[in-house]
Amino acid sequence: MKQVVVHPEKCVGCMQCTVACAVAHSSSRTLYAALLEEPLPRSRIHIGSTRFGRGFPNRCRHCDPAPCMRACLPGAIYRVSEYGTVLVDPDKCINCASCAMACPFGVIRYHEDAWAQPGKTVAVKCDNCLSRQLRGLIPACVEACKSGALGFEEMDRAQRRKTDAVSDTVWSTSGVVLPAAGSIGFELLHAQKKAMVEMAQTSRA
Ligand code: SF4
Ligand code: SF4
Repeated sequence: MKQVVVHPEKCVGCMQCTVACAVAHSSSRTLYAALLEEPLPRSRIHIGSTRFGRGFPNRCRHCDPAPCMRACLPGAIYRVSEYGTVLVDPDKCINCASCAMACPFGVIRYHEDAWAQPGKTVAVKCDNCLSRQLRGLIPACVEACKSGALGFEEMDRAQRRKTDAVSDTVWSTSGVVLPAAGSIGFELLHAQKKAMVEMAQTSRA
């Protein structure tokens, strides 16, 4: 199952994702018409500024289990398992803010929305652009992000890539030159590792 994957280190804070998100959730789905809509469509991805002056794309993680879903007493928050997506039903939302208090990531906002009853304030958050996905499109924020800070891919693939990247960074910054297999250095390293494993096993026993 594909998910939006965030690479915060690549975010340049250009806000293109937020514009694309707002337009994708407008009634007209076109930029210029969306600007004239009432209520004005708002983004469901939020760019935070970090201590280092860099952008940080913050969006719903579609947690499983989802704390917001558990906190919602009227049952307005539900999961579409097939897409790994947590959604809000604006008709059932009573604007009590329990979901925002439960969400560890601060990604829920309360305002009027094109998809809610006119004049009603409801909880609004990322819906993984489900309506776009059903039309064979990728989420709007991912399409708009040209710096590569947002991707849309299988989670396990993304996790493997991240592990490889961290391993590369550790080795390239450690200054360690690994000895070739079969050399004395290799045998020493191997013996040292074996001793460490044995020590760990003994201390656990
Ligand atoms: S709104 Fe928050 S708690 Fe709910 S699924 Fe998204 S990130 Fe998780
Ligand atoms: S479009 Fe990409 S680079 Fe620009 S603010 Fe959004 S996540 Fe960051």
